[in-house]
Amino acid sequence: MITMSTVVDLRSDTVTQPTVAMRAAMMAAPLGDDVFADDPSVNALQHALAERLGFEAALFMPTGTQSNLAALMAHCQRGEEYIVGQFAHTYRWEGGGAAVLGSIQPQPLPHQADGSLSLADIEANIKPDDAHFARTRLLTLENTIGGKVLPMDYLAAASALAQKHGLTRHLDGARLFNAAVAVDAADPYAAARRICSHFDSVSVCFSKGLGAPVGSVLCGSAAVIQRAHRWRKMLGGGMRQAGVLAAAAHHALDHHVHRLADDHALAQRLAQGLQGIAGLSVEAPQTNIVFVDVAQGERAAGLLPYLKSRGVLATGLYRLRFVTHLDVDAAGVDHAVATVREYFA
Ligand SMILES: *Cc1c(COP(=O)(O)O)cnc(C)c1O
Repeated sequence: MITMSTVVDLRSDTVTQPTVAMRAAMMAAPLGDDVFADDPSVNALQHALAERLGFEAALFMPTGTQSNLAALMAHCQRGEEYIVGQFAHTYRWEGGGAAVLGSIQPQPLPHQADGSLSLADIEANIKPDDAHFARTRLLTLENTIGGKVLPMDYLAAASALAQKHGLTRHLDGARLFNAAVAVDAADPYAAARRICSHFDSVSVCFSKGLGAPVGSVLCGSAAVIQRAHRWRKMLGGGMRQAGVLAAAAHHALDHHVHRLADDHALAQRLAQGLQGIAGLSVEAPQTNIVFVDVAQGERAAGLLPYLKSRGVLATGLYRLRFVTHLDVDAAGVDHAVATVREYFA
């Protein structure tokens, strides 16, 4: 039952509150000083994720932005470059950190309709060893990208191409487990491992759909993680009794992965509910993000304020974004759909 005081917050999957069970896990977590590598809960999370995803080592990070940056800096030296999508978080949404703090040059490429970078574009942008060019060092992909799942055979081909040219491969897997659930809802851990097999490092967010309050984990070889650890220290990411946070992430890893399928089903419900409204064009969601294009004009500008006045939050203007998560249910989605319909009626 939706009352006016209930807010249906579809702005992002970052808005979730820790569940009662997650808070209990945080309260019960044994703690130490992680800068001395003494925090058993941090160590347990790092060990569990590395093992689940098939990597040698892992490092708990305060944010996904810091995790990606430490990874880029672990792969690339000053004056080297990474190939990345024009709309990738690691290019567009991280304040230019790789350039500012790492002296690493991005080589952004356009996305294809499915979110991937074309192999021909990647290959054409790998620079020859010539003093005129930054040295191309790394291919960075993102999965999911704008809610879309990169196909497994694409990952294999992009990875093989990178290796053929001596590039290392980083995945911004902020929503890795959303991709994994979309690939294989019955065994998402195995699907995640298959995705990760194509990369030298992967960053996973726990504060998105997995529902933890804070934290990301970077996974990679022992050598990559050792270099990233040094950068994390310099970036101010050395945390002390961080186990209280790692325990939340660990709880999410064990209990909130399969349930991402519920978020995907709610995104479908939302998209279907919004079908057929004149002036709206709904993109079929693959995971937990629904994009809706709104015909430009006066009506568009009033939509989000109207939704907000009825307790529904989303982002965008002519391209609206609705994200489903742990703290939204079918009644909330139905209320959002009804409110949009009411506005356009
Ligand atoms: C959220 C997100 C990140 C990291 O964001 P933080 O807010 O720094 O944790 C990185 N990549 C993608 C694709 C994201 O969605």
